[in-house]
Amino acid sequence: PENNAPPMPWFGMDIGGTLTKLVYFEPRENNRRELDKETEILKNIRRYLTRNSAYGKTGRRDGHLQMDNVTIRGRRGTLHFIRFPTSEVGAFLQLARSKGMAALVNTIYATGGGAYKFEEDFIKEVNMRLSKLDELDALIAGVLFVDAMNPQECYYWAPPLPPHEVDSPPYLEAALSQYVRKPFDFSNPYPFLLVNIGSGVSMLVVNAPNDYYRVSGTSLGGGTFLGLCCLLAGCSSFEEAIALAASGDNTTVDKLVRDIYGGDYERFGLRGDLVASSFGHMCSSERRAKVSREDLARATLVTITNNIGSIARLCASNERLERVVFCGNFLRVNPLSMKLLSYAMSYWSRGALKALFLEHEGYFGAVGCLLRYDL
Ligand code: ADP
Repeated sequence: PENNAPPMPWFGMDIGGTLTKLVYFEPRENNRRELDKETEILKNIRRYLTRNSAYGKTGRRDGHLQMDNVTIRGRRGTLHFIRFPTSEVGAFLQLARSKGMAALVNTIYATGGGAYKFEEDFIKEVNMRLSKLDELDALIAGVLFVDAMNPQECYYWAPPLPPHEVDSPPYLEAALSQYVRKPFDFSNPYPFLLVNIGSGVSMLVVNAPNDYYRVSGTSLGGGTFLGLCCLLAGCSSFEEAIALAASGDNTTVDKLVRDIYGGDYERFGLRGDLVASSFGHMCSSERRAKVSREDLARATLVTITNNIGSIARLCASNERLERVVFCGNFLRVNPLSMKLLSYAMSYWSRGALKALFLEHEGYFGAVGCLLRYDL
């Protein structure tokens, strides 16, 4: 198939509401003949992308996610994972232009809203035609491909005690710190609920590779978390918001069951340390005066995460699914949300539901696009 393969370079791109994800296929240099066929421009692009881990002010390569020995359209090579803020698409195009991209006749496969919004700019600036894919089709194709290629892709957070025993002291806070990450064998995944937490949230029931539908979603997603942390805690980056949340205490912000009952609400099995009213303490001016940025960031994270967890759980039980797979960049560098989701899934379902996570978090849509070269 190599003869009629589309010309290199091969990129898959997902231009999302917050982040643009770019997956680059670096062909393996099998022999001199192939190397010589590569034009100077292609060589420069390859070297530039693979030898750096930062591009311009905001572009980053996630070197820890790199996948070697991947075969696409009969070519062996390496997948590289690059991201930058979608607000910087203009700067990205300038950079691509300065590397000679415009001189290559090229089509790249792209998804996400930005594939529509920036279509004209790609043609004007770098002579690139965007061949557009549906983002949910691309997402699922990417998840299934990466998982098949990488035995370590899927994992879960194991509680220190069987889930039902977390029900008694030391309770949630202490329990969270003891969760450990364990690999999960995802070779027999169907059916499962796929929850993609990006700027917003989509939930899909996946019955088979080409049999899925979108069941639900919520606009309270990763964008909401970051937006509220900027407003409430003066954050200026996602990493800062996560770091603040990790050291904060949401119980100074949220009203708990015990704040209302003085203890557990025994009749309906609601423990005293459960949140009864998110941000419920913030009606009091004395409490507002005492609250820290860390506490506000933590409460925001807990509120957004638990809301997503509770919608996911309802969808899963409605659809009679046992496995819930979470992905999307909200979970990047965010073990706290993963553990909260794991806890919520098993606690509220009495152990029936399992929360699963994927190593390549937010890159599946972009991978799904890259796979179009394989057809
Ligand atoms: P989208 O396709 O909507 O951009 P993503 O899956 O890329 O969705 O996730 C975007 C979310 O990821 C943001 O709303 C934020 O919560 C989180 N995030 C993780 N890393 C970053 C980052 N470096 N900059 C901004 N947001 C980030």
